[in-house]
Amino acid sequence: MGAYARLPRMRITALAGGVGGARFLRGLRDHLDADPSLAEAELTVIGNTGDDINLFGLRVCPDLDTLLYTLGEGVHEGQGWGRADEGHLVQAELAAYGAEPQWFALGDKDFGTHIVRSQWLGQGLSLSEVTARLAERWGLPRQRVTLLPMSDSPVETHVVVEDDEGQRAVHFQEWWVRMQAAVPAQRFVAVGMDRATAAPGVLDAIRRADVVLLPPSNPVVSIGIILGVPGVRDALRGSSAPVVGVSPLIGGMPVRGHADACLAAIGVESTASAVAGLYEDFLDGWLVSTEDAASVRLPRAAVHGRPLLMSSRAAAADIAGAALALALELKAA
Ligand code: GDP
Ligand code: CA
Repeated sequence: MGAYARLPRMRITALAGGVGGARFLRGLRDHLDADPSLAEAELTVIGNTGDDINLFGLRVCPDLDTLLYTLGEGVHEGQGWGRADEGHLVQAELAAYGAEPQWFALGDKDFGTHIVRSQWLGQGLSLSEVTARLAERWGLPRQRVTLLPMSDSPVETHVVVEDDEGQRAVHFQEWWVRMQAAVPAQRFVAVGMDRATAAPGVLDAIRRADVVLLPPSNPVVSIGIILGVPGVRDALRGSSAPVVGVSPLIGGMPVRGHADACLAAIGVESTASAVAGLYEDFLDGWLVSTEDAASVRLPRAAVHGRPLLMSSRAAAADIAGAALALALELKAA
């Protein structure tokens, strides 16, 4: 508590993918709100845009939308993405015309987001500007949350696979959603990254943070992609703020999704230690699941074991609180 008192307007910066990141960050907001000495904290979220895709002429940003809907109390709780009380009339109409793709679920309310985003992008607004407008509707400024896309330049994760049709690169969503990651990935290519720059505010949010958190997001295709944005990794290395991460693996297995298949593609073992190894040049603290704690030894980072299943909103808040406490402990040391 002493450390908290010295940082009444603490600046927390987090890198995040979709569902794992969003549940953790909503938990963090809940944790901050429950403590009057923390309620003034400001949270800046740098969201992965490597999953973005053009569908039916619309720009779809799945991870940013999951963050908006979750932090804005509009998410489908069971799924963890998409809107609550959603319908699929538009998608059924598109299918009736034989319009492709039909494997990517887009609900009617969700379509509203993609339409307005595409309209604003078409009017010349940057993705950051569009995201700020969307965040307004979802009440993020009121919660002192700023959501930044990692980059305003389009970056798309593609996956090199080999199957009966030979070797080819497919969009990340086609591999993840249509193929269910069952065809082994040979490698990931972040198309457009060589020309990308960090979106306005991203590098400053890392440099000026009091605490940097890595939620339990996919280490390869969520966090890994953000780390590939020019300047992000250097900013983390140079930051004086403690960087604390939460393992997305419990007992070596992803809680949901195909993080193990992503790790295999880049030749990294599916263990909490190996994931920490991807961040070793800037990681100061690593929260792992109780059952993994004994097997994790990191030369430069403090390791804490605790239950890491976000089985409820309250459980997510406890996990986020533990990550923040570890960061503040490291800051005080
Ligand atoms: P996506 O973009 O929707 O795939 O979401 P993220 O990249 O933010 O998060 C995906 C990761 O979150 C996966 O690797 C999961 O293992 C991890 N994850 C999901 N739920 C939990 C949980 O309850 N606890 C932990 N520790 N990790 C989780
Ligand atoms: Ca994602």
